[in-house]
Amino acid sequence: MNLAIDSARLLSEIEELALISEAEPPVVTRIVFTPADMRARAWMLERCTAAGLNVRHDAIGNTFARWQGSDPAAPAVGTGSHIDAIPNAGKYDGVVGVLGGLEAFRALQRSGFQPKHSLELLLFTSEEPTRFGIGCLGSRLLSGTLSPQAATKLHDKDGLSLDDVRQQAGVKGNLQDVPLIPGYYKAFVELHIEQGPILERERIPLGVVTKIAAPASARISIEGSGGHAGGVLMSDRRDALCAASELILAIENVARTSGSPDSVATVGMCDVFPGAVNSIASRVMLSLDVRDTSLESRDRIMSAIATASKEISQRRQVATQTELLNADAPAESASEVVEALSASCRKHQQQFRPMISRAYHDSLFMSRIAPIAMLFIPCRNGYSHRPDEYASIEDIARGTLILAETLATLSA
Ligand SMILES: [Zn+2]
Repeated sequence: MNLAIDSARLLSEIEELALISEAEPPVVTRIVFTPADMRARAWMLERCTAAGLNVRHDAIGNTFARWQGSDPAAPAVGTGSHIDAIPNAGKYDGVVGVLGGLEAFRALQRSGFQPKHSLELLLFTSEEPTRFGIGCLGSRLLSGTLSPQAATKLHDKDGLSLDDVRQQAGVKGNLQDVPLIPGYYKAFVELHIEQGPILERERIPLGVVTKIAAPASARISIEGSGGHAGGVLMSDRRDALCAASELILAIENVARTSGSPDSVATVGMCDVFPGAVNSIASRVMLSLDVRDTSLESRDRIMSAIATASKEISQRRQVATQTELLNADAPAESASEVVEALSASCRKHQQQFRPMISRAYHDSLFMSRIAPIAMLFIPCRNGYSHRPDEYASIEDIARGTLILAETLATLSA
């Protein structure tokens, strides 16, 4: 089998898809079920059809482009990622796994390879949580992690229900039909940019992901007492923002000292009410995001944060309330898929290293129903979710080649 990746075509497709955006280039913004998202899907559909793939969609808009194997009843081998993008994002997050996956199929076709297990390219709906506040919507539903009933309760910030939004976008069908039957996939492999600096720093072109960190997120509200910035003396204050500040630093400290070396905790949002220069903050809302490769260590951090929050609230006489938004379990890659990726790297004499994914991916949820692994390629400075996100075409093509080889191994 002689595998050759058409880098020029792959690059021009990445550039072309980046232009389907709600923002001016080089910024990419493609939020789920907006006109830009739907145009990008239609554009992908054309390319998949041109490659001779059979395309179907499910009721949440996940797209499956299938290359029928010689044993159509055998479980399929899947690859793919997402094409939605957060506001002010770049061209490569998700896209590399989708267009790289498609080019891997085409390279296999050109080589004369015929799969025994069908090969499927997946485009997951709404990997990004921008619109409905929950990430990996498509893969959560596919894997049964999110029930169709819970999904129908989701609303966007304009109060539109997920059902209304998807149907207005022309995505029809019953959400009950989305979950895949057990054993649908023999294996699932996702190619993705690293979104971190390790591969670039170590000058290693490929990372084989062995674990995906377990994210938990929460909203913490702190209720104190407002008042005039001049009128209320310091001894009488119950300033919600001062309490929130202490809590933010406590969260940082807990993640540094109570978890594992892989623990990270982030407060990325702080909403202050009423938010006036001459007014004491009466209410603050903080976002909390905690990730770890060990569920035990992550839960330890979450409970240490709860203890800190209780102590601060008693001492400062403010009321704190924590609403857990999600607490997903971490995932481990399947050894046979990791081995298939590693063997492909060795076969093509490419250096690689095992890695941990600290970002959310659809593969996290696919791991609940299929043996999975991921392949990372470097991205400049580790930047992602910003317009200057960049991966070189050499690195993208290398990842695509290893993906193609791995898909051949798994589907033979
Ligand atoms: Zn992504």
